[in-house]
Amino acid sequence: MPDVIAPAPTARSKCRGCSRTIEKGAFRFGEAEANPFGEGETQRWFHLECAALKRPERFGPALEATPDVPERDALREIVKSGLDHPRVVRILRAERAPSARAHCRHCRELIEKGALRIALEIWEDGRFSPMGSIHAGCAPSYFETRELMPRIERTSPDLSAADRTALEETLRTAPEVPYVERDESGEGAPPAGETS
Ligand SMILES: [Zn+2]
Ligand SMILES: [Zn+2]
Repeated sequence: MPDVIAPAPTARSKCRGCSRTIEKGAFRFGEAEANPFGEGETQRWFHLECAALKRPERFGPALEATPDVPERDALREIVKSGLDHPRVVRILRAERAPSARAHCRHCRELIEKGALRIALEIWEDGRFSPMGSIHAGCAPSYFETRELMPRIERTSPDLSAADRTALEETLRTAPEVPYVERDESGEGAPPAGETS
C-alpha cells in the first residue's frame, strides 16, 4: 500500500506528529511502513499540517499525487520550507526555558532559566523523540535560515504575543554562531569554569 491522503473514516486514529486525535472526516496522511513484526505493512497517520511540517519528504509526493486536498497551497509551502532547510522539521516548539539545566545543542552553552529557546525532536523508528533545545539566538545558524516564524507560530500556539515579538526580533538580528561538536561522552564540552 502506498502513502495515502484521504478522509479519516473514524475518530480512532492518532497523529504521530502531535499525538492528538484525528477527527472523523478530516483529511489525514498515511505513511506506509513495513511491519517490523511480520508480514505486510502498517500505516502511520498524521494531520495534513503535521505531516507537512514534520515529514515533508514523504508527504510532498503524496500531496502532489492527490487531487482536491484542502489548503494545498499552504501545505505545499510548508513542505518546501522543510525540504529547503531539513533541520526545521525538528522544531517541536518555541518556549521559555523552565530551568537552567539544559545546554544548547548548537553552541553548547547553558540556556539560562527564562530564556527563549527552541525545543527540538527527531524522527527515529517511526516516532518523534525529544533531542534537547537551542537558544533562540542560535536558531538562524542551526537551521541555516531566518525564515522560521511561520513554522514556529504553527507549532507554538501557547507563545505570548510579547514572546513572539521578542523571538521575531532575535531571529532577525542574531549574529552567526559557530556550531560546537559534541565530545565523546555525548554531553558536549563543559563551559569554561564549570568544574563538575
Ligand atoms: Zn497532528
Ligand atoms: Zn546556543
